[in-house]
Amino acid sequence: MTDCLFCKIRDGEIPADRVYENDDVVAFRDVNPQAPTHVLIVPKRHIATINDLEPADAALMGEMQLAAKSIAANEGIDEDGYRLVVNCNSRAGQTVFHIHMHLLGGRAMTWPPG
Ligand code: AMP
Repeated sequence: MTDCLFCKIRDGEIPADRVYENDDVVAFRDVNPQAPTHVLIVPKRHIATINDLEPADAALMGEMQLAAKSIAANEGIDEDGYRLVVNCNSRAGQTVFHIHMHLLGGRAMTWPPG
């Protein structure tokens, strides 16, 4: 998609602090971190929201979680724990309409989330 922030980061048109990449997924640090570790895990293919997923995307969603596992280990937060969040549409707080998973860790989390 031509006017998508995360497509531009994927393509290197906008800089980002990349921490992980494979054929299907790229991950980079959130520019406005909400925790000591705050990484966004993004499928390379543009999908706007979770509502747009198709059954054929199941493996891709699994790739995102496997990326999260790997990044958490690299960040040294896997044993203490971390949170994975995917916001869908405006009431959940989605502001970038290219699916992404937030990986948050390095501090204690509260529940329920805001
Ligand atoms: P969401 O609100 O769930 O759509 O999350 C979008 C996230 O993208 C927010 O946490 C923003 O801080 C983050 N973000 C926005 N622009 C950039 C950027 N250029 N590089 C890295 N993260 C960004």
